[in-house]
Amino acid sequence: STAGVDDSAVIATNDDAASCKRFAVQQGYWKDPYIQHLVRPGERKAPEINRGYYARTQGVRQLLDQFLRLTRCECQVVSLGAGFETTYWRLKDEGLVPRGYFEVDFPAVTSRKCHYIRSRPPLSKPLTEGGGQLQIEGGVLHCSNYHILSGDLRNTEELDASLTASGIDKSLPTLFMTECVLVYLTPEQSAKLVRWASDNFLTAMFVNYEQVNMKDKFGQVMIENLKTRHCHLAGVDLCADAESQKQRFLSVGWEGSDLLDMWTVYHSLPQQDVQRIERLEFLDEVELLQQLLQHYCITWAWKDPAGLGLSNLGF
Ligand code: SAM
Repeated sequence: STAGVDDSAVIATNDDAASCKRFAVQQGYWKDPYIQHLVRPGERKAPEINRGYYARTQGVRQLLDQFLRLTRCECQVVSLGAGFETTYWRLKDEGLVPRGYFEVDFPAVTSRKCHYIRSRPPLSKPLTEGGGQLQIEGGVLHCSNYHILSGDLRNTEELDASLTASGIDKSLPTLFMTECVLVYLTPEQSAKLVRWASDNFLTAMFVNYEQVNMKDKFGQVMIENLKTRHCHLAGVDLCADAESQKQRFLSVGWEGSDLLDMWTVYHSLPQQDVQRIERLEFLDEVELLQQLLQHYCITWAWKDPAGLGLSNLGF
């Protein structure tokens, strides 16, 4: 299926995420030699935004790497709404490649990503190292265990079919990731997606990063205000929303679920590195950062009938 007119704004959110990540990388928040080949340098971002992206990427990375280590890479990763994520290249560099790595996004996004990979050797070379054959057709890429698939997450039948055609093994432990994605689906659509994952994969984990209370106008107002550096505390009920984040998984067949707001995640990351990044740019209003990060969270859920220990993963 192709994206409609209304989807173009959603598709554009990927450019924003990628250019924020590129800027933070350029400032030294974390290393990513690949993102510069996927997105042009954007405008300067406020230090709060850079620290927010740092917490987001490092937080998701913690859970992903824990999962890969626990399963000794005898597993699969499925990034839904992956945009221009460069995680596969990092895992390759670190010798942490799972048996299968699958990304799904709208064709308008995956065809651009595939085009950049095809035309830029710094992206394509690492993929073919070790003998992998790069197969690219439109917005679809296959290269040994790396697959970029185009599709619409609202259509789980089509999603299932294209993952199956790419050789996904539903009996292997599988980690699903949605980094800033579910918010673009209706509650019914995201419930269907989360249920499909739990119905179809025996041993699985789901890692979701998103804004708490996105549906709440106050959250949006606060972010807008942050951009103009005048921040007001929004009177949102974060506890109720946190509970509903967990229920989204528990009500559709996941065995357990937990979450942390990003302010807590930030303080749970390796503190030596946090201290390093805090020296990169001066932040005059720490409270502003706190308010921003408290409006985002990472929720994770697991299904672990074989007792691998997925419920022990976390911060
Ligand atoms: N996960 C990436 C990251 O964190 O850098 C990209 C995040 S971007 C904010 C949201 C992504 O979700 C976009 O690439 C968008 O195209 C994708 N997306 C949203 N709704 C989708 C849908 N129904 N089907 C496929 N992709 C979708």
